[in-house]
Amino acid sequence: MNHLHFQIQDRHGVLTFDREGSSANIFDRDALVELSAKLDALSAHPELQGLLIRSAKPTIFIAGADLKALSSAQGSDLRDLIELGQATFQKLAKLPFPTVAAIHGACVGGGLELALACDWRVASDASATKIGLPETNLGILPAWGGTTRLPRLIGLPTALPLILGGKIMVAKAAKSKGIVDAVVPQENLEAYALTFFKRGKRRLPHRPLLHNGIVAPLIGKKARKALLEKTRGLYPGPEAALEVAIQSCHGPLEEGFKRERDAILQLAPRPETHQLMRLFLLQERAKKHRIVQAEPHKVGRCAVIGAGVMGAGIAYWLSARGHEVVLRDINDEAIAKGIRAIAKNYDEARNRRVFTPTETQRGLDRILPSAVPVPLDRCDLVIEAAVERLDIKKKVFADLAARTRPDTILATNTSALPVHELAEVVGNPERLVGLHFFNPVHRMQLVEVVRTPQTSDATLATAVAFVRSIGKLPVVVQDAPGFLVNRILMPYLVEAAKLFERGGDPKAIDDAMLDFGMPMGPLRLLDEVGLDVAAHVARTLAEAFPERMSVPALLDKLIAGGHLGRKSGSGFYSYEGHRTTPNPAALNLRTGNQAAPADTAALLARSMSDEARLCLNEHVADTADDIDLAMVLGTGYAPFRGGPLQYQIDQAMRPKATAQPSTPRSHESFTHATHRHS
Ligand code: NAD
Repeated sequence: MNHLHFQIQDRHGVLTFDREGSSANIFDRDALVELSAKLDALSAHPELQGLLIRSAKPTIFIAGADLKALSSAQGSDLRDLIELGQATFQKLAKLPFPTVAAIHGACVGGGLELALACDWRVASDASATKIGLPETNLGILPAWGGTTRLPRLIGLPTALPLILGGKIMVAKAAKSKGIVDAVVPQENLEAYALTFFKRGKRRLPHRPLLHNGIVAPLIGKKARKALLEKTRGLYPGPEAALEVAIQSCHGPLEEGFKRERDAILQLAPRPETHQLMRLFLLQERAKKHRIVQAEPHKVGRCAVIGAGVMGAGIAYWLSARGHEVVLRDINDEAIAKGIRAIAKNYDEARNRRVFTPTETQRGLDRILPSAVPVPLDRCDLVIEAAVERLDIKKKVFADLAARTRPDTILATNTSALPVHELAEVVGNPERLVGLHFFNPVHRMQLVEVVRTPQTSDATLATAVAFVRSIGKLPVVVQDAPGFLVNRILMPYLVEAAKLFERGGDPKAIDDAMLDFGMPMGPLRLLDEVGLDVAAHVARTLAEAFPERMSVPALLDKLIAGGHLGRKSGSGFYSYEGHRTTPNPAALNLRTGNQAAPADTAALLARSMSDEARLCLNEHVADTADDIDLAMVLGTGYAPFRGGPLQYQIDQAMRPKATAQPSTPRSHESFTHATHRHS
């Protein structure tokens, strides 16, 4: 294999990583062996005064370890791979001359561990440059030296949240944490990186007052408390990373490497790790897997109809990804509200250094607001996000059909209305598709791409490619009631409301599901979604599946009493400032006095798994993997359990006597979806 190229320029070496036959640089055994051999060969060049490490790939420095290889390696194979990576990066660290990583593009996991073994790191300010150690999100820990080296470089208190949270940062954020030494425009990257040779080998700061056997464990104690509050002890990866980081921030490096190795050997065979890796690989597949043979069309200018919660969220996201967006609503007030929401999103992103002030301004300039009908013939895609009423949507689509080119794709963001019913008002319904974004748009990665019987392959291919191009993950679903995610979620929410109605304590019901690993309890989620919105979706499903779905009377009573959930100040809970307490009015509406059963979590989880199985049987989505992935991305379904269908399989394989779901002791959520879904 020939993944790395070495050249001598003036009196320094340049090592270029350019993995053969791949758009990404990743480390597998071959690449590590090759790197190790190239580093050995440097001893034949005593004249060298420095080594620059760079990538030839346009958007990737090094994307980490080959996860397929890593997830299949166990026992001695895994041990060898870990030791090989540690020894190779240590060889790099011990070179007698200064080393600089010139980072442009993704520098994550093993890529950052290599960069941490260099003396200096200079990064480009391009948006493609992303830096971090995401291993704990996969159930493991950085074990090629990262858990040991990062705290020594930037201090344990700064390093711990980055390692335990698996955070990926833009270059400027990495600079502010001390991970990189300089951030420069891409065109100056290598020239600037070369100037670091004159700084010589780096001496890491000694932190004897922090990094010792007394203070480090105290820092760890605080971090452990925060971690367990977030993870409820369900994820072993970050817990192990925490222990290794605390013990390895002082003493010999090699001791730290041994701890990293031992910890990863223990974590790799765990079922949680297996599920987290599986979900990661499913996400990678969702980014590229071909759904139909047709070629997608290019999408440039877009229009969004409706500047409410979803319309504004979608318009922000599209404009931030470079699309011009016509944003249409029915009056100036609605437009102004939408623009305020968009500006707020941009402000937050700018504060997190995702966008510079100039990029923020350019993004806002790409929004073309209008409170009156405008020609849309320059738009390649229109996404309708007006109110959830079929009569209104039909009027909107009839107007869109007249106002757009015949090849403009028309999409609806409806939560549960039948997309095909809009076909009758659109002249050529093969261009009609559902694009169901989740709320809040800027945080939720999933988009359900709803295919009607008339949707053409070209429309579907374009919709899927478009969703990917804006950094979201598509799951293709049939135009069936509630599509996929809401259909599976709703029986669970309804079942929880029924447990409450019969006398269950709201906190006990919600806590049971938090302990199961959901990011939010079902009654809190109902309040977040809005009880009126939830009842609307539940009613649609009850009409479609009357034999097993019904809307609890309690929901209608709460709505009639003005308790619409969080937006009205009360629902199952009352919301006053930061205080959330059970709503006395809701408690009084309960019709029984049965406490929630001991197996509440198993019961509620089963309602999702059963519906997921029906969706699979009815081909609402193509595969069980699609369903599991959609539920994790769309609802935050306990990632370490792998999704509702995987959970069903696991339960079927467990001994019969145990009613409670197993909760392997162990962390950090794959997605922090704690938001409204409708
Ligand atoms: P919203 O009430 O916040 O916004 C709807 C907007 O549409 C309003 O600004 C309204 O003035 C505008 N509007 C109404 N008629 C219009 C017309 N004829 N032309 C242009 N604009 C018009 O609603 P929302 O929560 O943003 O939901 C919008 C759509 O997205 C609905 O179909 C909803 O089911 C779906 N959805 C909502 C969520 C959610 O959590 N809110 C999630 C996914 C999908």
